[in-house]
Amino acid sequence: MNLTETIDYSTFKGQYFIIGEIILEGPLRIGRSRNEVVEYSISAAAPVLLDYNSQDGSYYPFIPGSSLKGVFRATFERIAKTFGFFVCQMIDDRKEKKTCGKCLGCRLFGSETSQSNIIVRSAYPVEEAEKYSMVSERPHFNSDDKRFYPEEIINPSKFVFQIDFQTKPNKEELALILLTFNEFNLKRAFIGGGVSRGNGAVRINTEVYKRELEYEENEVIGYEIYEIETDLKKIHSYLVEKKTGRYFDEWKDFRVYHRATDDSLNGCIVAEMNIKTESKFTLKGREEESVTLGGEPVIPGSVIKGFLRNKMKKIKGKRSDWIEKIFGSIKQSGGRSKIIVTDAIPKTKVNETKYIPKGTVLKTFILFDNIVEEDLQTILEQLQGIKMITGATSARGGVVRGPIINNKVSFAIEKAWKFTIKDLEKDITFELDQML
Ligand SMILES: [Zn+2]
Repeated sequence: MNLTETIDYSTFKGQYFIIGEIILEGPLRIGRSRNEVVEYSISAAAPVLLDYNSQDGSYYPFIPGSSLKGVFRATFERIAKTFGFFVCQMIDDRKEKKTCGKCLGCRLFGSETSQSNIIVRSAYPVEEAEKYSMVSERPHFNSDDKRFYPEEIINPSKFVFQIDFQTKPNKEELALILLTFNEFNLKRAFIGGGVSRGNGAVRINTEVYKRELEYEENEVIGYEIYEIETDLKKIHSYLVEKKTGRYFDEWKDFRVYHRATDDSLNGCIVAEMNIKTESKFTLKGREEESVTLGGEPVIPGSVIKGFLRNKMKKIKGKRSDWIEKIFGSIKQSGGRSKIIVTDAIPKTKVNETKYIPKGTVLKTFILFDNIVEEDLQTILEQLQGIKMITGATSARGGVVRGPIINNKVSFAIEKAWKFTIKDLEKDITFELDQML
């Protein structure tokens, strides 16, 4: 696809701009709150944001520019800070929302006292999309009150967004923003709501352009568009050279990538895993025979994470602080999870909608964010051998009595990588394979 075809030049302001496509690799939730019923909702489930298209009289899901800007900023600042650039980074702090107005983050994304140098436009579906195929309902289990809550999600589809620069971005800014997009591809950053439940896995492809105006006798008569070369390897080496030598390693939060200066198994680690069904896998949805993603049966990330959480509760004790520290607090104000598991999706198309047949291989990503080696080891050990990863009722095929015959799976490491300053994708496949 030629992304420049999607540009609306009538709204265009800056000279430099980025066009990007967001390819959903799992459910996406850009939502409203639970119980809020809106006119266009397909159910009473927590609805996703839709935009009305007056031309054809239908509603389409979209991703507001403000949502994208927020998640891009957090990711940008995390990389910048890890590379030693000064970033004031107060955006996550609800108590005190003060920004300096001068640092890299404030210059690009704005602050109370300074204007933003970028305009992030909302992302819209690329293909002619129909509301009913793009949006579906997915239950999620709240272990706090042991109830299922329905919510609408956007099924895998493609969106296009645009970022306009008000003034020419400097080399650092451009390099950091391009590495920001790459973080989504490396599954260290996610979009939208319910990320701790496995939502928001995406790929982002971008192209950077410059628009040069053409003049004739001091009057603008047109413009030419040039694509700017964006080689990630070169961009990364540039940042490594620029690296200030300052290094922030704050174990308390997610504002930096931990242990990014060494090759140990501590830090921000992603495992791409193959899950093989050793029996039929079935998980009844609210209205579906089995939970699907756009009609294809999947194992929701939340199921795998829930399995791990329950296993660890047995080892560490139900009230353990460790559980909350690793899996996130279930309280509203609680801390975020160090573990994110994306939906496991069949690697080859399954010709079933009601269950996943035995012998199917599915792909999932598990992010271990700022973890210590000992915890990584303990968690991976739970994935050894053949495991029944759902509750007994699901494993019996939805009945209360009878033999537990379904939902047995085995895990294998396909590939694993760690964030280091020298190598953003430091290969640790062998080391993780040894642990499993
Ligand atoms: Zn600042």
